[in-house]
Amino acid sequence: DSLNQETQSPPPSLIGWGILWSLMSKHMLRLGFSILALAGATTCTLSMPIFSGRFFEVLIGARPEPLWRLLSKIGVLYALEPIFTVVFVINMNTVWEKVMSTIRAQIFTRVLIQKAEFFDRYKVGELSGLLTSDLGSLKGLVSENISRDRGFRALSEVIGTICILFAIAPQLAPILALLMLAVSVSVAVYKRSTVPVFKAYGMAQASMSDCVTETFSAIRTVRSFGGEKRQMSMFGSQVLAYQKSGIKLGTFKSVNESLTRVAIYISLLTLYCLGGSKVKAGELSVGIMASFIGYTFTLTFAVQGLVNTFGDLRGTFAAVERINSVLSGTEIDEALAYGLEREIQQKVYNENLKLFLFDGSHGKHQYSNMHYMSALKSATDVCSVAWSDDVCLEDVHFAYPLRPDVEVLNGLNLRLKHGTVTALVGQSGAGKSTVVQLLARFYEPTRGRITVGGEDVRSFDKSEWARVVSIVNQDPVLFSVSVGENIAYGLPDEEVSKDDIIKAAKAANAHEFIISLPQGYDTLVGERGGLLSGGQRQRVAIARALLKNAPILILDEATSALDAVSERLVQDALNHLMKGRTTLVIAHRLSTVQNAHQIALCSDGRVAELGTHLELVARKGQYASLVGTQRLAFE
Ligand code: ADP
Repeated sequence: DSLNQETQSPPPSLIGWGILWSLMSKHMLRLGFSILALAGATTCTLSMPIFSGRFFEVLIGARPEPLWRLLSKIGVLYALEPIFTVVFVINMNTVWEKVMSTIRAQIFTRVLIQKAEFFDRYKVGELSGLLTSDLGSLKGLVSENISRDRGFRALSEVIGTICILFAIAPQLAPILALLMLAVSVSVAVYKRSTVPVFKAYGMAQASMSDCVTETFSAIRTVRSFGGEKRQMSMFGSQVLAYQKSGIKLGTFKSVNESLTRVAIYISLLTLYCLGGSKVKAGELSVGIMASFIGYTFTLTFAVQGLVNTFGDLRGTFAAVERINSVLSGTEIDEALAYGLEREIQQKVYNENLKLFLFDGSHGKHQYSNMHYMSALKSATDVCSVAWSDDVCLEDVHFAYPLRPDVEVLNGLNLRLKHGTVTALVGQSGAGKSTVVQLLARFYEPTRGRITVGGEDVRSFDKSEWARVVSIVNQDPVLFSVSVGENIAYGLPDEEVSKDDIIKAAKAANAHEFIISLPQGYDTLVGERGGLLSGGQRQRVAIARALLKNAPILILDEATSALDAVSERLVQDALNHLMKGRTTLVIAHRLSTVQNAHQIALCSDGRVAELGTHLELVARKGQYASLVGTQRLAFE
């Protein structure tokens, strides 16, 4: 079975020279323009010391040129340089912003399409750190280094100056060699010593932002446990660690910069001694000597700029390495990635999505396993599953990827008959939620399969699967958009009318409360739906599922007690939703269990008892005792 084959080859690094180049090369014209302007600006800068030398020669009468003519040439030079610089900076910056947008979008997608275990492994703070501070460092490398005396500009000035110096005064070349040697040695030292320091700094920053995210996303829990002091102490220790690594980093930076400067002062002093005596002896003209000193300063600033840029480069390499190490070795959810890519390519829903339309050569091979894709495609094409078929879990084995030796499910069999309700019961930890996660295809069974009408669900790409399965959780998460948008979430804008939304809301008993909100359907619900009550959130989630109208429904029944009125409204809405759908419900209420067409009791990772309420009670097995002990909880 081709779908079962492990054909994952490790994906290439996410960010590397090749990829940067291929993205940059899409903006060749601008890039070329920018480089020409850089050449112009550098030429201006590099000509300046020659003209200062001539200026001195004119002053002491060693040069016949009239002063006004020389001054007007210098004036032209001074006027051109900033113009060239502006053209260079604007164009280079524009190209880089565009390249970075593509990379940012790609990294976001790359995180979005990871398999579920990836999100078990990494904290939200770490992931947002990749997209904000780490990518920010890469962006800053160009954005902040295209200024006057850093980056490319510094590099071109260093090269240009050295060439000119060799041409005008080859006698003084050894000094230059000394200077360059001293600077490169300090750069090399810098390179080696700062990598771990930068890394530690980035990590300290990430764990600090982690602590912030965790604290404020759980603010109610913190408050109800009086956990402020603990959070403060935790954040305090993170801040201190950050401070420590910041100070260490600062020390490294300053020591290394001073090292460079010392090297440069020594070179200058040597130049004064050697050059001065040569002028005295008449072997070198005053003009050349003056230009030379000018060039040494140009070189000084350019080399310093380069060293700074090198420093940034180290930080950026560390950041890029973090991004690559988090994302390169991980597994992509192929079925999800393929579906997404196909959908976006077929139909770009809006302007923003255009950013994600990578050209095939680049985007595709990054996250698509061709073998898997072709298998998926043919399966989708051939298959004409009637979604009105039964859903079967056949001999399903499963262990969570992060705890591979704990078999949570071992040989679970369950048939969800079309249009009926199956209640899943069992003690906490029995694996009920795990079954839901497998049905939702967040995880794949390690053995066995899940089928619809006999067709392995892995034959469907996940966007298709998302359309046929609705999941309503006990504590539904809403997004911080309007109520209406929350109900329509996941459906393409053009396919949902306002009337449909209202119809779904009415059927979910949500319409009444929605129109009493300040802006009706346009009312924003706050972060994670925090401005609505628990019962209201549930009804919005039910309306969302009704609108989606998927044939398969998974319900995780609420354990939290709602007041009697909300309870009745929610239950009523749920009954409406379940009608005619193949439903699996993790049941907590006795009434739900009693009304279900069949009850599956989950124990030791399999279905231990199966039947109706009366059958199972009569059997006097685990279910009967569960009902006995949990009767109160059920009611
Ligand atoms: P139930 O829903 O019946 O209470 P679950 O399906 O949530 O049970 O859990 C079954 C077992 O799987 C438990 O032992 C739990 O600790 C473990 N488990 C649940 N989620 C994860 C996860 N993401 N990673 C590792 N183990 C998990």
